[in-house]
Amino acid sequence: MKKRVVLVNPPNEKTILRDMYSSTISKGLYNWPCTDLLVISGVLKDEFDVTFLDANTLRMSLGETLERIAVIDPLAVVCAIGNSVKNDDYDFIRRLRERIQSITICGTGGILFHNAENEMRALPEIDACLLNFTSNDIVKFLKGEFSGMNNIVYRHNGEIVHAAVETNPNGFSYPVPLHEQLPLHRYRLSHGKAKPLTSVLTSYGCPATCRFCVAGKISYSYRSPDNIIEELDSIHRIGVKEVFFRDNAFCSSRNQGNELLDRMIERQYGFSWIADVRAVTLDSETVWKMKRSGCHALHIGVESGSPEILRKYNKGATLDHIRSAFALCKENGIKTVGYFIIGLPGEKTEDVMKTIDLSIELDCDYASFNIALPIVGTTLWEESVKMGWIDNNTDTIYDGSLNAQINSGDISNEEISALRDEAYKRFYLRPSYFLKKITGIRNIYQFKMLVLEFINMIRNKLSV
Ligand code: SF4
Repeated sequence: MKKRVVLVNPPNEKTILRDMYSSTISKGLYNWPCTDLLVISGVLKDEFDVTFLDANTLRMSLGETLERIAVIDPLAVVCAIGNSVKNDDYDFIRRLRERIQSITICGTGGILFHNAENEMRALPEIDACLLNFTSNDIVKFLKGEFSGMNNIVYRHNGEIVHAAVETNPNGFSYPVPLHEQLPLHRYRLSHGKAKPLTSVLTSYGCPATCRFCVAGKISYSYRSPDNIIEELDSIHRIGVKEVFFRDNAFCSSRNQGNELLDRMIERQYGFSWIADVRAVTLDSETVWKMKRSGCHALHIGVESGSPEILRKYNKGATLDHIRSAFALCKENGIKTVGYFIIGLPGEKTEDVMKTIDLSIELDCDYASFNIALPIVGTTLWEESVKMGWIDNNTDTIYDGSLNAQINSGDISNEEISALRDEAYKRFYLRPSYFLKKITGIRNIYQFKMLVLEFINMIRNKLSV
């Protein structure tokens, strides 16, 4: 009989998005399956009897979650850890250890990726931290085979053993994850088109090296198209209607991306999909294939309307790339979500104004204005510590819902918050924008989401 393993997205009063080495408290109405745990479910399922428990989405209390795990009586629990709720997640792990002392507890998440040894010292209840969650080192570790592991930090004979993280440049693959165990009807994207929704990974890391981003520090590798198609066939069979390709930069490998899109077109799955892409990825052929294969919205990192700021932060895209990407999406009927950053060190108020102007000029369908954050592990974090703009304290919680936290002496933190609010007001409170939204509604689900988002925006005084 296979030994049991439980994968847990820990309980919390708020909706927490914990995956891909970042985490945030959901400010809008969006929520998607934790990608790390989904991938791990595939990696583990041939060797172990896996139960995937998304306690956060199921609104389970801490007590209920512990009870459920205790009833399953597993060999091990793999827990998603979010930087933005690190204290709550560590408390969950401590309570889990108290409840089932013999259990093996592993964690995955950004803070563990960047600072595993220190975090393990601070949290003696945890036995291992996964570095590259696409690797099968977790299988070896749980089977007690300790040789040849490079993607996990673990305790062994009282020592913390840490090997360098490795990415396979020749690609990776894993068995189909356990989507069917998740409450797929409960996930949603604010600009989503349909439910049930799930997330799928087609690549790991990012070829770009943006200085403010965690993914910029992770070498890029991609998953074999055959392996992705196997998973897409499977989720199609269980009735998934929308896919969130959760890659940091979908289709960044042109050959692999185009092969995947061709095969999706051939198969005519009928589900719609959304992805995060780099502007430089979007040429006319690729965008056309994206649309034909079911894409209805793309998230594009614009960051700034200032060419100097784009260069300074290694964005790897110019304003021309960005304008062309948005124009191609519009031509092909793909909705766009533009991501912008406000308050990067070195920015002046005029730069932020250029950013807000650009968001309106690009005519994105949605705009997300985020305050610059020194996420642990990024070059921006390293620079902020070195320059004394923040404390060298990895316990500090950085979350986009909080106010500015970098004291670089450029724009004051109060002004950064005010500029973010102004950006939202200027972008969303335009009659032309409102009209576009109303006329763009195609079904009752989109109408419901629009109403809910509007209520949520008002509740958050437009700071969404
Ligand atoms: S392109 Fe996007 S995912 Fe890649 S490093 Fe830059 S911000 Fe991060």
